[in-house]
Amino acid sequence: PAVFELRGTVVAYGAHRALDGVDLVVRPGERVALLGPSGSGKSTLLSVLSGAAVPDDGAALLFGEDLAAVGHRRRRTLCAQVGALSQELDLVEQVRVLHNVNAGRLGRWPLRTALSALLTARADDEARRVLEQVGLPWAVHARTEQLSGGERQRVAVARLLVQGAAAVVADEPASSLDPTTARDVLALLPSSASTGTTVVSLHQPELARRTFTRALGLRRGRVVLDLPADELRDHH
Ligand code: ADP
Ligand code: ADP
Repeated sequence: PAVFELRGTVVAYGAHRALDGVDLVVRPGERVALLGPSGSGKSTLLSVLSGAAVPDDGAALLFGEDLAAVGHRRRRTLCAQVGALSQELDLVEQVRVLHNVNAGRLGRWPLRTALSALLTARADDEARRVLEQVGLPWAVHARTEQLSGGERQRVAVARLLVQGAAAVVADEPASSLDPTTARDVLALLPSSASTGTTVVSLHQPELARRTFTRALGLRRGRVVLDLPADELRDHH
């Protein structure tokens, strides 16, 4: 089945429709870049895909199951299989980077980060490995609050990698990174090689062209563009 599916999905804030009837099917192995101006509904769409937001109308399916039709526990199980990263990053400031990264093993991040201090040496090796992948090998024992915005973003991606979800939804995970680092970091997110699926919002079309297979354009809560990423041009 599809990994993500939306059918006529509407999300409204009062009278304002942040999503105004979206139909979308994302299949295993796809890497989707979501583009569109600020306020076009990108964050809202990603929240619905990850199960964090519930449609006011229409449906959201995860791995072929309608999230509104299954029970509470099944819903939790399905949503736990998606790695989600919001723009806020949800890092715990006062602990060392290592602990924020290890928290990826525990699912629900902020609450559980403190517990990650109890994890094993093997977990620490894994954390070191992913921190090296995102270009922060020196940051293992740094305090999270001392890092720059771009470094914090990479720590959050490292935590996502540790979580090991085959499906990832991330809201502008590379917005504070220079183009080269952004490309390298985005390339770490799941792709067809691992039948992994990634949906990410972005502001730079050239990044979408390089490491994604499909580009979606949003305007005022509607999908107005859906094409292979390599057909994307700068004016979109
Ligand atoms: P950007 O896409 O530039 O990061 P945001 O998505 O954070 O911007 O916000 C876009 C608009 O959505 C803003 O005008 C903001 O007022 C509104 N907005 C976002 N979150 C909320 C909220 N929780 N309550 C009310 N308005 C919100
Ligand atoms: P984007 O991520 O593309 O910037 P959003 O999904 O954040 O867009 O926002 C889409 C629309 O919904 C915007 O018009 C924004 O102002 C509005 N919006 C988003 N979150 C809220 C909220 N919590 N309360 C009220 N309006 C919101």
